Amino acid sequence: MATTKKKTCIVCGDEITGRPDKRFCSDNCRSTHHNRHNSDHTNFIRNINNTLRKNRRILEGLNPEGKATVHRDKLLEMGFNFRYFTNEYVTRTGTVYRYVYEQGYTERDNGYLTLVVRQAYVE
Ligand SMILES: [Zn+2]
Repeated sequence: MATTKKKTCIVCGDEITGRPDKRFCSDNCRSTHHNRHNSDHTNFIRNINNTLRKNRRILEGLNPEGKATVHRDKLLEMGFNFRYFTNEYVTRTGTVYRYVYEQGYTERDNGYLTLVVRQAYVE
């Protein structure tokens, strides 16, 4: 007594006929779905890239000489997002440097950051 479960298109909700593994009622709905999916990913990547670019611009603006000391509140005020950076470097003595491309910083105990600029690429 098997009941056949009606399958519906995940885009428009229309009933699907044909092969049981089909997810879309038509080529149209298939491409709609793929376009939506891709644009979600594209937006996600774009937002991260924008955040990194902004972070880099903030550090660069605060550090014209290649070395500077700034309070972290100043960066937050300017919209810096501490969750995004491109890589992290830990010195032998345990000091953590975080880089946004070539612009980097290390946090000190008193809420201040030392800003640095990397001369060459380090892994
Ligand atoms: Zn459909």
